[in-house]
Amino acid sequence: MSQEKPKLNLEDHFSFACHRGLDCYTSCCRDVNIFLTPNDVLRLKKAMGLTSTEFLHKYTDLVVVPGRHLPLVQLRMDEENNKRCFFVRSHGCLYYADRPWACRMFPLDERPDGGFTVVADPKKCHGLIKGDDWQVKEWLKDQGATQSKEADGSYDGLAGHHLMKNLDITNDQILNMIVTALWDVDGFRKMVLNSSFLDKFELEPERIDAIKTDDTAMMDLGYDWVRFGLLGQKTLKLKDQDQQAAGGN
Ligand code: SF4
Ligand code: SF4
Repeated sequence: MSQEKPKLNLEDHFSFACHRGLDCYTSCCRDVNIFLTPNDVLRLKKAMGLTSTEFLHKYTDLVVVPGRHLPLVQLRMDEENNKRCFFVRSHGCLYYADRPWACRMFPLDERPDGGFTVVADPKKCHGLIKGDDWQVKEWLKDQGATQSKEADGSYDGLAGHHLMKNLDITNDQILNMIVTALWDVDGFRKMVLNSSFLDKFELEPERIDAIKTDDTAMMDLGYDWVRFGLLGQKTLKLKDQDQQAAGGN
């Protein structure tokens, strides 16, 4: 019987120190499953000077797990370079300041039942052998994982919504809507500004101005659209028929 790893709470402590002097340095940035949150994509694409559409196409794979409420956007590893992360260099992560939430958490991960676990294996992750004393909550704060989690609050709220389990994300139309609205902020902006979206929905003029340039405002609209379209929530207001006709076809 496999032994379950101990559960840690925010107040608990663990020992860890990762630094360039370790022989395992950057080995963990290889052949690893990293699932990107919408906020992860937003930060990385900005840091790289790409659109989210380009970033998703170049560096991610979409994973649809039947029975799971939301699709997963997985960071692609470089098959031609021993499955290393495209962003790892000998000195560390090229986009360290904007690294994904999962990379900030490591060597910890969240447990589905709440709390945390040290997921890394000390045989491979030598920073666990002789490290500094960390309280879990201090570690999360130090790494920016807490802040990153807060920025993805809408995502967590949506993923945990009880109605999400009724969705069929193997349906291409639903899948496309979710991925575009939540992860592909630039693709969604293009769609909103170049379709009849603004003729159909009543949005404040200030909000329309904001979504043109502000990615966070655009992403907020994406969440509202998904909640309106898929969960039937009143997050957006449809214009009446006369207004829609006056808005042009
Ligand atoms: S100590 Fe762990 S986290 Fe740090 S480089 Fe080594 S394997 Fe990666
Ligand atoms: S994004 Fe950065 S920290 Fe995360 S696996 Fe890639 S190189 Fe490592």
